[in-house]
Amino acid sequence: MTKTGQDHLDSLRDGRSVYLDGQLVGDVVDHPAYRNAIRSTAALYDFQAAPENQELMTFESPTGARVNRCWQMPESYEELVQRRLALEAWAEQTNGFLGRSPDHVASSLCGMMMRLDLFQAHGEKRAEALRDYFEYVRDNDRFVTYVVVSPQADRSKGVAEQADEFLAAGICDEDSQGITVKGAKMLGTSCIMANEVLLGTIQPLQPGEEKYAFSASIPLGAKGVKLLSRKSYEAAAVSEFDNPLSYRYDENDAIVYFDEVKVPWERVFVHRDPAMCRAQYHETPAHVFHNYQAQVRLMVKLRFLVGMARKIAETTNVLIYPQVVESLGSLAGQAGLIEGMVHGMEAKGTYVGKYYVPDRHLMYASQVQAQQMYPEVIQAIRQLTGGGVIMLPSGAADFTSSETAGYIEKTQQSPVVNSKDRVKLFKLAWDAIGSEFGSRHTQYEMFYAGAQFAVRNHSYRTYDWEKATGLVDRFMDSYDLPE
Ligand SMILES: Cc1cc2nc3c(=O)[nH]c(=O)nc-3n(C[C@H](O)[C@H](O)[C@H](O)COP(=O)(O)OP(=O)(O)OC[C@H]3O[C@@H](n4cnc5c(N)ncnc54)[C@H](O)[C@@H]3O)c2cc1C
Repeated sequence: MTKTGQDHLDSLRDGRSVYLDGQLVGDVVDHPAYRNAIRSTAALYDFQAAPENQELMTFESPTGARVNRCWQMPESYEELVQRRLALEAWAEQTNGFLGRSPDHVASSLCGMMMRLDLFQAHGEKRAEALRDYFEYVRDNDRFVTYVVVSPQADRSKGVAEQADEFLAAGICDEDSQGITVKGAKMLGTSCIMANEVLLGTIQPLQPGEEKYAFSASIPLGAKGVKLLSRKSYEAAAVSEFDNPLSYRYDENDAIVYFDEVKVPWERVFVHRDPAMCRAQYHETPAHVFHNYQAQVRLMVKLRFLVGMARKIAETTNVLIYPQVVESLGSLAGQAGLIEGMVHGMEAKGTYVGKYYVPDRHLMYASQVQAQQMYPEVIQAIRQLTGGGVIMLPSGAADFTSSETAGYIEKTQQSPVVNSKDRVKLFKLAWDAIGSEFGSRHTQYEMFYAGAQFAVRNHSYRTYDWEKATGLVDRFMDSYDLPE
């Protein structure tokens, strides 16, 4: 049976420990800091469960249940595209503003499963654990998120050299039942509203750092898992009219502290092996597959932002100026670039065993562009909005107050829309580009996949240099010093 929104809401009442403003939050589902974002996620499941969306959004899993296509491991170009249409349709439900929607880490797990042989070489039991876990999360449509980065502290030192041995999550004990994990990971986006967290380390580890070199999955309601929530922008949103994006899509990011959490061997996929810790992401299609999902989502988000920019230009009637047309043309070009990259990754895809996956280098090339481009897109929209995003009524209540309503009518004018619609658009724009929520989105797009130097290194590592330098060599071989 396809999971519904209500199924998801029920699944979050699992006794998880979320801390906000110095207090333990009880039920996250109805808490004012999280309830709308949680319902936006639940709406994704309702969308997939709607009879008219079943074919678009779901496929029959090998064990018979219909589940989301994010769990599908494509075996051809056509299946990859079919799967992308589901990712795209989901991204459209939130206009790309839920960075860590359930299809992100599901894609990562699909990528790992495509190279189960690598896990088998690491250990038959670990491979068995991954396979069983994958079938469990797929067939129960569990929302899995991940934490794979250690807290900043001293970045000039490795995890083992930090002042506190268990600053970064590490194995502090193990026995016949499993491992015990202690320490933190930074920024579990969506942890508040997911079911499980995949804990690992993506930053390179060295021999000697074995206790940090593992990966495991943990239910977010497990004993000892502490979610230290950042400030809730949803709670701070005055009203949906005033902060429509913060109000609905504040997926939250939390430091996750593992306070001696016991993890059974059945949920441990990599164990004390720095090389395998890296290989699980980069020698399987996992890293490429989840970041491909992120590019599909970004493609939708840019479409939304560019559409918003055009509506702003129409509202203030500046489309008559060639410079404004040029600016919108440039924005459209940036949105088109990412769309082209998504299609390119698919067309230039390759087989990994029987699975068809997007082209690795084009995916990293797209990420290099995206990290740089997103703040530029925001900057260009800021240029278009001018002071319009600031010369706004303080809140929706100003519309119903007899003291202020008339002045709104007088001051919020546009040749094409009424004052309410003008205010509505500019409030949306500010939430996308300038509010605390909007600003966090810029930081997210710049960093979620790693700092710029890391992403550029991936691009360097995966480019076909032989082909590129070969061209130069061939040309240079065609002439020499005059005889
Ligand atoms: C909004 C948001 C959500 C996130 N969600 C998640 C999540 O769900 N799960 C998860 O695991 N992670 C998440 N992250 C964390 C993300 O993966 C990290 O931010 C990213 O890997 C970069 O690490 P860092 O932030 O510690 O930056 P750092 O690695 O500390 O880098 C910061 C800056 O320091 C400099 N620098 C640091 N090291 C070097 C070096 N070796 N060489 C040159 N310059 C260097 C660079 O200028 C770099 O830009 C999220 C981040 C953000 C901002």
